[in-house]
Amino acid sequence: MKNKKSSKSFLNTVCAYATIILGTLCGILFAFSLVCAVNHRWAEFGICLAIAIILLIIIIPLMFRGDIYKCPKCGHEFKTNPYKTFFTKGMLSDLDGTPTKYVKLKCPKCNTKDYCKRRWK
Ligand SMILES: [Zn+2]
Repeated sequence: MKNKKSSKSFLNTVCAYATIILGTLCGILFAFSLVCAVNHRWAEFGICLAIAIILLIIIIPLMFRGDIYKCPKCGHEFKTNPYKTFFTKGMLSDLDGTPTKYVKLKCPKCNTKDYCKRRWK
C-alpha cells in the first residue's frame, strides 16, 4: 500500500517535470520557427512548427491530468476534455488573484455555463 502511494507521487513528479521540460522545448521551437520564418527558411520553419504543435498536443493532457471542476450552481464535480479546457477563455482568468483557478465550462448536470473552480489534487 505504501509502495503504491509513493510510486503514484513519483509518477506525478515525472509528469510535472515532463510538462516543464516539454513546455520549454515547445517554446524554444516556436521561437526558432519564428527566426526561420524571418530568414525565409520555410522548410526549417515548417519542421519546427510541426514538432512544437506535436509537443503541445502531448503537454496539454499532462497539464490538466486528473483535474476536477466544480459547478458553482449545483456543486456537481466533473472532468473535462483537457484540449477543451486549454482553449477555453476562462483559463487565464484570475477571479481571486490566482490564474487558471477558474475555467468557464458547461456543467454536464445542469447545463449552466459558468466559471467552475478547479480542484487541485
Ligand atoms: Zn451544475
